[in-house]
Amino acid sequence: MGSVTMKTVILDCLECDQSTTNAVEDQNEILCSGCQKKWLFYSEGYQFETCPICECKEFYRQKDFDKRIGCLIMFVAIVLVPWTYGLSLPFFFAIDWFLYRRVPDMAVCYLCRGEFRGFDLQKKIKTFNHIMAEGFEKKRLTQKKWFSSPQDTPE
Ligand SMILES: [Zn+2]
Ligand SMILES: [Zn+2]
Repeated sequence: MGSVTMKTVILDCLECDQSTTNAVEDQNEILCSGCQKKWLFYSEGYQFETCPICECKEFYRQKDFDKRIGCLIMFVAIVLVPWTYGLSLPFFFAIDWFLYRRVPDMAVCYLCRGEFRGFDLQKKIKTFNHIMAEGFEKKRLTQKKWFSSPQDTPE
């Protein structure tokens, strides 16, 4: 597994539901591959003030860790138990923990769930908060409604 240091933004488009990965290192926009919608975005020195996609101001941090890798490591550990007299378990647990620790954090927008990888995350970006997420979930659904029926005026 290569470590991801390139700045990328993954968005779930609110208009067409398409999930798109954008490398934003050298470009000043985020593009939805589904509906071709564009959002202006300057990744250089981005401070997570507002989300470029939905203008939400709240983000949470999350480990950019592929759970499948964790499962695979545990699987190998269990398979090796008969040959290692059980020692494979603590050994692979340690590897799992070590990998997890090394995985960088990414920021996720509470509202549109856009994922921001490879950025310097400030301390102000906290871990996931369920209560906040619930509020944003409602907001997200209404926002989606606006998009799917453009004749209705938001407000
Ligand atoms: Zn789209
Ligand atoms: Zn957002």
